[in-house]
Amino acid sequence: MKVLVINAGSSSIKYQLYDMPGGQVVARGVLERIGDKLSRLTHRRGSETSTREEAVVNHEAAMQRILQILVDPRVGAIEELAEIATVGHRVVHGGEEFTGSVVVDDRVLASIEKFVDLAPLHNPHNLVGIRAARNKLPGAVQVACFDTAFHTSLPEVAYRYALPYELYERYHIRRYGFHGTSHRYVARRAASLMGMDKYQLNAITCHLGNGCSMAAIRHGRSVDTSMGFTPLEGLVMGTRTGDFDPAILFYLADKGYDLTSLNSLCNKKSGLLGISGVSNDMRTLEQLAHEGNARARLAVEIFCYRVRKYIGAYMTLLNPLDAIVFTGGIGENSPLVRRQVCQDLDHLGIRLDPQGNEMGRGREGVISAADSDVCLLVIPTNEEEAIATDAYELSVEAGGSAKAKGHWDRT
Ligand code: ADP
Repeated sequence: MKVLVINAGSSSIKYQLYDMPGGQVVARGVLERIGDKLSRLTHRRGSETSTREEAVVNHEAAMQRILQILVDPRVGAIEELAEIATVGHRVVHGGEEFTGSVVVDDRVLASIEKFVDLAPLHNPHNLVGIRAARNKLPGAVQVACFDTAFHTSLPEVAYRYALPYELYERYHIRRYGFHGTSHRYVARRAASLMGMDKYQLNAITCHLGNGCSMAAIRHGRSVDTSMGFTPLEGLVMGTRTGDFDPAILFYLADKGYDLTSLNSLCNKKSGLLGISGVSNDMRTLEQLAHEGNARARLAVEIFCYRVRKYIGAYMTLLNPLDAIVFTGGIGENSPLVRRQVCQDLDHLGIRLDPQGNEMGRGREGVISAADSDVCLLVIPTNEEEAIATDAYELSVEAGGSAKAKGHWDRT
């Protein structure tokens, strides 16, 4: 069965076509700059890459182009669109309603629409992607996978803020958490690598990419996570502040900053970029720090310091702690960050194997010393594969029919 995974952003759509249940990627690509004069479609089948540049006015037209290239006799991967039985869509916000992936029906669409208010930068594009796929592939089962779903298991004590009680009831202000598909994927993978049942594992998962978040996972379920009402809270990120005193905003407002500039300051100009003043890219900062740039070095140090603080906090929730997992572009590829995060934590039973930690890019494996109480793991995340698996399983459950309605929690 062919499963198409769609990740629709504001100006791009990423796609991967899977052959399930085996999980082989038969084609993948990205259509960027939707709505610009010239959009670019980069399509890969095996080791062959083809690019096309042409005007693509909107997401509907973009889906049309993607489907066209998938059946292209020269570079495509399937003979006809009817081979695509299921489409799995990444959706950022599922509020408190979606505790797992679901088959999309009109009710589900209406709910995703309702959560546009909570994720105005993401859910509208995700919705357009779903609608476009529904129009173009009416025979396929459409499945929505939510970034928030894995964290719906957070207990009230972890998801409530110490704000006036009624704000939760009136505006649904609470911790939602994001990157859920990634945290779930690496936690399940860690359990499998360690020979444990997925509902036995206690782990701290660190998704360190451009956006960064951590999760405390008890018996396979998320019990706390560092991102909050929005992805701004928690760790230091490429351009986001992470945790800081909100009174700084009142102070700056008093100095003349308006809402728009404060939003941009916190989300786009802070984090690694803000501290270093030169880059949000960890590779660049590591290089500059190595060359003696003090601010680049400070940015890396603050980044790692914050991860360490969360490890300390989450260890109070997990007894025993079986594993710490590193994933995301930085977590998977930066021995330096992993070393700084784990150094001098012997008293917590965390001991890194310096050689194992130097493992090459994109590799999966154990990086803890033989005498470490906590297993330290690097696991490349694969959110697309997780979405394809959910979509496949839900589609089988729904009998492979686009008309089937269903809600099956993929936890
Ligand atoms: P996104 O959150 O946009 O998906 P990624 O997960 O791809 O981002 O992570 C991007 C980050 O990973 C960047 O800061 C990049 O510098 C960092 N990164 C990628 N490779 C390396 C590497 N070899 N060493 C250090 N950092 C790396």
